[in-house]
Amino acid sequence: MNVGQWPAQWSKLYPEEPCIKYQDLRLNKREFNQRINQLAHLLQKRGIRKGDRVAALMANSNVFLEILFACSKIGAIMVPLNFRLAPPELEFIINDCEPSLLFYSPEFTPVRDALQDKIPSVKERICEMAGGAPNDGEYESLIGPMSTAEPTPESEVVMDDPQFIMYTSGTTGKPKGAVLSHGNTQWNAINAAVTYGSDNNDVVMCCAPLFHIGALNCSATPALYGGASLTIQRFFDPVGVLKMIEEDKVTVMFGIPVMYLFMSQMPEFATTDFSTVKYLLAGGSPCPKALIETYQKKGVLFAQGYGMTETAPAISALRKEEALKKIGSCGKPLLHTEVKVVDAQNNELAPHEMGEVVVRGPIVMLEYWKRPEATANTIVDGWMHTGDMGYFDEEGYLYLMDRKKDMYISGGENVYPAEVEDALMSNPKIADAGVIGVADEKWGEVGMAILVKAPGEDLSEDEVIAWCREKLAGYKCPKKVAFVDELPRTMTGKILKKDLRAQYGGGAY
Ligand code: ATP
Ligand code: MG
Repeated sequence: MNVGQWPAQWSKLYPEEPCIKYQDLRLNKREFNQRINQLAHLLQKRGIRKGDRVAALMANSNVFLEILFACSKIGAIMVPLNFRLAPPELEFIINDCEPSLLFYSPEFTPVRDALQDKIPSVKERICEMAGGAPNDGEYESLIGPMSTAEPTPESEVVMDDPQFIMYTSGTTGKPKGAVLSHGNTQWNAINAAVTYGSDNNDVVMCCAPLFHIGALNCSATPALYGGASLTIQRFFDPVGVLKMIEEDKVTVMFGIPVMYLFMSQMPEFATTDFSTVKYLLAGGSPCPKALIETYQKKGVLFAQGYGMTETAPAISALRKEEALKKIGSCGKPLLHTEVKVVDAQNNELAPHEMGEVVVRGPIVMLEYWKRPEATANTIVDGWMHTGDMGYFDEEGYLYLMDRKKDMYISGGENVYPAEVEDALMSNPKIADAGVIGVADEKWGEVGMAILVKAPGEDLSEDEVIAWCREKLAGYKCPKKVAFVDELPRTMTGKILKKDLRAQYGGGAY
């Protein structure tokens, strides 16, 4: 078995059931599988073999998923690329994994051109639809008209074989290629089915970018595993999503909290009918209480999840009924996922003791692509070290505190910037806050707060420090303050602490 067999099996069992809705296109289970087979044969004819990499710089569409499953059927390794990266960042990733073929969407032709002579491994380029560069192939004409005869290609691909390489977000350093197996994807889908329930009548909204593990493995693949249908949006657009929720009778959606925030800020939100929605899945960062309450008023609840690229991604989940009862928690481990909190010597800690979150199970990646040292440092005795600091409460709910790399030590005490940032953000004069540890002769490190003032507000360094003094222990209070117009963030909204440290000189004295 491999993941490529899911669409083949669904096609055999329920050929006429809906599978994908994308703009004007409707594909049933048989048609989706047929197109995948045609592409798989094309890839084989192009000389793509098991283990070869196939990169995709693609907007969301059925084609993205056809590439994933065609590669899965023949054992090729797909590399979804983040289209928001700049050409030099993409150049780094592409030359790291050396794909021989690149699929791209016409919107990214300028990026394709910028990379032209810089990615020597890429021998062929195929544009998703007409409008690509003159010498490139065009997807629809290459896979040809829909035939009913094209069989599933012969291949020997098993669950432990790599299915795709997904690069991490690069929040803490250069992105690393997490090599995820067919088994990782399948066990993640099983975990999701057990946790949220899987129903072939579900209509799953796919509007977060598929190159990100959240959209790919929290909406698309669990839906296609469970026989549900997908409604796909090319690029996230909050008003469009609200419309699709109503028109397509969406039952489930995955998004990061900021997407839900944008949706709730649209005038259309007030009149959107959410009655078909069973729950909204939110992951990637904590869901603010105000957001939970805004949606609750519309009769919709959030199921929240914690995960990372390296674990395909889901690690823990907070059920929708628990959203307000356990605010701030990212829930309990999933069924086939073991989670522990450990100290620096890898001893398991008791409830409420803070340590690093480590994870074991069939969802843990195979390795970091071509980084044996990073792999060995990350997966120790089968346990994946997440780099996230947190604790369990006495009922077994996991709370995340901050990243290990972002923690700093002031006068011998551990400080978690997230806690300091929360205190700062409770000041209405502060619009955004990032805290890092910077060198200090006396304390080793002290906190430095980099702040964005709320529009029209005036605020001094002394006022900020006094505010923190009221709310936090002395050693947690920032000793230095800087005001900026904007904080550097990743596309998923995480503050780029590495950039702040580079600018303000983070680290111990
Ligand atoms: P890099 O590994 O390259 O530095 P990254 O860790 O941001 O980047 P991702 O794999 O996209 O890359 O993100 C996973 C991280 O996101 C987790 O390790 C955790 O820090 C954070 N995260 C995910 N879900 C949640 C959540 N529900 N609450 C808080 N933080 C979360
Ligand atoms: Mg990470």
